Amino acid sequence: GKKAKSWEKKSDKAIERAAVLGAGIMGGGIAYQSAYKGVPIKMKDINQDGLDLGLSEASKLLAKRVERGRMTPAKMGEVLNSIDATLSYDGFEDVDIVVEAVVENPKVKQAVLAETEQKIGEDAILASNTSTISISHLAKALKRPENFCGMHFFNPVHAMPLVEVIRGEKTSDKAVARTVAYANKMGKKAVVVKDCPGFLVNRVLFPYFDGFSKLLRDGADFQAVDKVMERWGWPMGPAYLMDVVGIDTGVHAGEVMAEGFPDRMKLDFKAAPEVMFENQRFGQKNNIGFYEYV
Ligand code: NAD
Repeated sequence: GKKAKSWEKKSDKAIERAAVLGAGIMGGGIAYQSAYKGVPIKMKDINQDGLDLGLSEASKLLAKRVERGRMTPAKMGEVLNSIDATLSYDGFEDVDIVVEAVVENPKVKQAVLAETEQKIGEDAILASNTSTISISHLAKALKRPENFCGMHFFNPVHAMPLVEVIRGEKTSDKAVARTVAYANKMGKKAVVVKDCPGFLVNRVLFPYFDGFSKLLRDGADFQAVDKVMERWGWPMGPAYLMDVVGIDTGVHAGEVMAEGFPDRMKLDFKAAPEVMFENQRFGQKNNIGFYEYV
């Protein structure tokens, strides 16, 4: 909206080189979108399988554009070449922003962010794509919390227009402005939101997932619920949406929300998502969640 636009005006230095940590569902999508919009990006993971998956997702999306005649094969090659898949921090000293997109676990994120902060320049922005974890809490692990903010994309990154830019207690105006400018450069609409567990969108979405879980416990059939919600007008129902998001990520995020709002967000442990998580039914990422994918 208007506010985010006025933020962008305050950005002094454009983002020309980026990096993303984690090449999963979100990291792969962020790498694709940044490269596609002309900002070369390093994509770092801790295992080669992750990198391969991230790259293959990006090339599938690009191939689709070529098939539809919306992109030349040469341009596709150029975009793919601007994603530098890596297992190391080499070259991180030259990037303007790093978006962290590793597992939704506060301790893991704090360790990864603190490590990354040592590899990047003094002025570089560090941003977290966390779904739910408070930015001020994550910032406690950092020496330069003023350069840190949330940059919360939605899934699938290439299709979802919104990015929440989250301002922690110590985030500087400059960091917010540069992150908003990068989101806009990636073709996204940025909104600047306050910091709390779940920020804005997930504060609305988690009670919905919670309501869905309780409905299942009361005996509802998940496929029937999905059909009804689709007929109501939503693009997909809650069970399918959970499979897209990743049940593991959803369960971790649910725990953060329950801890952040203990009086308001009492989760039913042993409800369907937790049981599926224990049985390693993670959704589309491993081809089995509420539904099976072949
Ligand atoms: P994912 O499980 O698909 O991918 C996580 C990746 O991080 C894996 O490839 C893993 O190997 C890698 N990783 C783990 N530790 C690492 C490290 N130290 N350095 C580099 N890479 C490391 O998860 P995801 O769905 O992409 O979620 C990532 C983050 O994005 C989470 O914080 C999640 O809450 C958030 N998020 C997810 C969604 C969604 O719908 N899935 C939406 C918005 C935000």
